[in-house]
Amino acid sequence: MQCTQCKTQHLEPDELEPGLIAAVCPQCQGALLSLMNYRFWADRHTSTADVAANADEIAEVESVHSCPKCSRLMTKYQIGASTSHKLDLCGACDEAWLDKGEWQLLKTLDLHGKLPKIFTDAWQRNIRKQRQEMALNERYEKLLGEESFTKAHEFKTWLYQQPNKDLIKQFLVIAPD
Ligand SMILES: [Zn+2]
Ligand SMILES: [Zn+2]
Repeated sequence: MQCTQCKTQHLEPDELEPGLIAAVCPQCQGALLSLMNYRFWADRHTSTADVAANADEIAEVESVHSCPKCSRLMTKYQIGASTSHKLDLCGACDEAWLDKGEWQLLKTLDLHGKLPKIFTDAWQRNIRKQRQEMALNERYEKLLGEESFTKAHEFKTWLYQQPNKDLIKQFLVIAPD
C-alpha cells in the first residue's frame, strides 16, 4: 500500500501504541489505522499514559486523501470544537487515516479511546453546535464587554438549571423595572 500523502512511499506496519499496529509512512508519518484493529486494542487498553501533543508537530493537511487500500476518496471528520484538525475515514474499508501528530493530538484531547465515535453524525453535529455556541458567546462578549458578559453568562447557566426557568424568563421580560 502506498502513502496517500506522499504517493511514492510504501506504508509499513508500526505501533502507534504498544499493541496497536497501523500502516505507517516512513516519510510523512501518516498512519492508516484499521478500526477493527483499533476496537480490538481499545477493548483491552482503557487508559494509556497521557502525552501532550506538540502542536507544531501535527501535520496540517487540508487536501482530500484517497484510501491507500481501495483508492476511494476518504471523508473528513472534525475531531472536536477546540481543534481544526480532521481525521479521514474510508467507510468502505473501515480504515482511518491519521496525519503526523494526530494520534498524539487525540491523546491530548483524551479522545484516543473514543475513535469510532468521532465518525458518527451525533459527534459531528455536537461539534457544530459547540462551535455555534462559541461564536455566539464571542459576539455577545464583544457587544456587552467582559464584565457584563461574564455576569450574564453565569446567570444564563444558572437559569437553565432551574425547573421553573420559563417563569423566570417571563418575569424578566414582563416585570416593570
Ligand atoms: Zn507519507
Ligand atoms: Zn478504502
